[in-house]
Amino acid sequence: MKIITKVEEMQKISEMHRQNGEKIVCVPTMGYFHEGHLNLMRIAKGYGDIVVVTLFVNPTQFGPNEDFERYPRNFQRDMELASSVGVDYLFAPTVEEMYPDGYATKVVVTKYTDKFEGVKRPGHFDGVATVVTKLFNATKPNVAIFGQKDYQQTLVVKQLVKDLLFDIDIIVAPIVREPDGLAMSSRNVYLSPEERTVANEIYNALNKGVEAIRNGEKRRKHINSIVIEHLRKFNQFYIDYVSAVNAENFEEPEVFRSGEKVVILVAVYLGKTRLIDNMLATVP
Ligand code: AMP
Repeated sequence: MKIITKVEEMQKISEMHRQNGEKIVCVPTMGYFHEGHLNLMRIAKGYGDIVVVTLFVNPTQFGPNEDFERYPRNFQRDMELASSVGVDYLFAPTVEEMYPDGYATKVVVTKYTDKFEGVKRPGHFDGVATVVTKLFNATKPNVAIFGQKDYQQTLVVKQLVKDLLFDIDIIVAPIVREPDGLAMSSRNVYLSPEERTVANEIYNALNKGVEAIRNGEKRRKHINSIVIEHLRKFNQFYIDYVSAVNAENFEEPEVFRSGEKVVILVAVYLGKTRLIDNMLATVP
């Protein structure tokens, strides 16, 4: 596995592989790899010839009071893990390389961004759309893999690709969980042992919501209440939002239709740590 830190070098390498007729698959990440990331990398290998993982903790997608500075980082470990799953290139630019002095452009996606993460984290999706655009232009992929863990992000990225005519297929990979159900996240290291013991209740709460849908509950507010009620049993959670929404258009009807694909979105604080998770269900 080769480590690349310069945009120009990355572009030359990608261009060379494209000229060879090889298909490039990109996996954008912020590092501090866990099994969720490694699974995206393994899936990537099945979609092309060359896997490029990008590792960049993107400052523009963090709010001023968020955890950019203390976001966990371990480059040595990440290198070893990415290499162990057969990644070809690890593109790890510095902040200065990605946002040099005089940088003055921002990409704004106006669909799917006016709710949930877009409201709770103002500017977050502008940062995501901008950095994803830049990472695509640096790595020139044919395919890019994103995790369902950041469900809203997958819709925003698909919209971005469609609207800006990127010739890139977007693949969404399933959520990888700890044995007790907690969705893997680089931020899980922030949890105290006590917080960690209840963190999997997010998964149990989502399961209750999905079970209700499968048992015929179509009223959105009732589905939300079932999830909220479960979380409230554990008074450690501060609920940022819980919402069952149409998984394709993000609308929130009073009553879901038969056959509608629904995603239940959850964001909670456990102490100072903000965790997000989601689960899909189809209304019977
Ligand atoms: P991050 O490094 O947290 O920005 O995540 C990089 C990519 O990995 C994003 O597309 C995430 O959605 C995805 N990802 C993070 N955690 C998981 C997980 N537990 N399961 C599947 N994908 C994940």
